[in-house]
Amino acid sequence: MNSKKLPFSAEELKKLCSDLPTPFYLYDEKGIRETCRELIKSFSWSADFKEFYAVKALPNPYILEILKDEGLGADCSSLAELTLAKAIGLKDTSIMFTSNNTTLKEYEEALKLGAYLNLDDFTHIKFLEENLELPETISFRYNPGPERSGNVIIGTPEEAKYGFTKEQLFEGYKYLNDKGVKHFGIHTMVASNERDPYFFIETAKMLFELIIQIKDKSGVSIEFCNLGGGIGIPYLPEEEKVDLLTISKGVQNEYEKLIVKNNLNPVKIFMENGRMITGPHGYLFTKAIHKKEIYKNYIGVDACMSNLMRPGMYGAYHHISVIGKEDAIHDKTYDVVGSLCENNDKFAIDRKLPEITNNDFLVIHDAGAHGHAMGFQYNGKVRSAEYLLTENREIKQIRRAETLEDYFSTLSYPGL
Ligand SMILES: *Cc1c(COP(=O)(O)O)cnc(C)c1O
Repeated sequence: MNSKKLPFSAEELKKLCSDLPTPFYLYDEKGIRETCRELIKSFSWSADFKEFYAVKALPNPYILEILKDEGLGADCSSLAELTLAKAIGLKDTSIMFTSNNTTLKEYEEALKLGAYLNLDDFTHIKFLEENLELPETISFRYNPGPERSGNVIIGTPEEAKYGFTKEQLFEGYKYLNDKGVKHFGIHTMVASNERDPYFFIETAKMLFELIIQIKDKSGVSIEFCNLGGGIGIPYLPEEEKVDLLTISKGVQNEYEKLIVKNNLNPVKIFMENGRMITGPHGYLFTKAIHKKEIYKNYIGVDACMSNLMRPGMYGAYHHISVIGKEDAIHDKTYDVVGSLCENNDKFAIDRKLPEITNNDFLVIHDAGAHGHAMGFQYNGKVRSAEYLLTENREIKQIRRAETLEDYFSTLSYPGL
């Protein structure tokens, strides 16, 4: 099977390809809104369920506004991300600040906005006390170490730089309680692009068991439990969407067995997904500009790895449609490549595609998260524009393309 549908009419595609200079990103508002609703609805058993969108996945305020409108908060990890959250009018309990190796400036801004602070390390308690203040509400990030296996993108927890050990958690909550901190949360993030629902149920179970132990050892009641992000998406056409209801039902079951039975409820359930919310609803449009036949057959396109580095960085699969040839036989084998002087600058390797000729438009699917956001300027390749296909089917530019002037703007040199 080699089909993955594009949610655009033939007329819309024609307009997109004739009006906009490639490469560019396009996001589908309707799809994004539907996915937000689906996630929230699946957790409707939990009255206070909240999704904090991981801003790093697609840090564009026009997108964040849509998510805010759907009731999502923002999960931030840097000053820039906090600034974006503030700009769209988020504050207080609508912002989760899950950072690591955090600077004082970042903590200062997070405190100013009243965000939930999710501390990554035991020493950050003292760091806050000495330099700023302890807020009324604090959450800790747990690293389960050898207790839990991770997955490919995030690695094994024991090797991961994030979070507290279990002993540090017990000590940390006790210390904060003695210092007068009033409200407590717990967080973990052990998977990325994970498509097995049971992984998330296991994570919830692990955290709920920990909440019981924290009560016993530190005398502290945990009020919110942040299961992290990491719900995967079907990048391959033959993959299925993750069944959110299976995750939710499984989490509910563990909640009843562990939290309710031990009289520890209510505990609010939070998540901080990025990829699953916007990933499937973003598309990178690019044009075939050269065809090269040597030991392999290459299609050179006008986008490169600096527009989308997931294939080069992780060997990630991104489906490719050739506009107008969606239903043609896919009997050619190509490497689809960009122009960087790096041989991993390939969007696809040995991909079965229809015959491609110069000036064909290619659409790279599932680029709505960790796509444009990961862009860089190596080789002097500047980042592309971003467009939104609004719910009423208008095409709106939400970020202009960078120019060479932008590229040189940090240099002060005659002639540049
Ligand atoms: C990256 C990240 C997320 C989002 O991950 P997705 O795979 O996009 O869902 C959430 N929380 C933290 C702490 C992260 O670093």
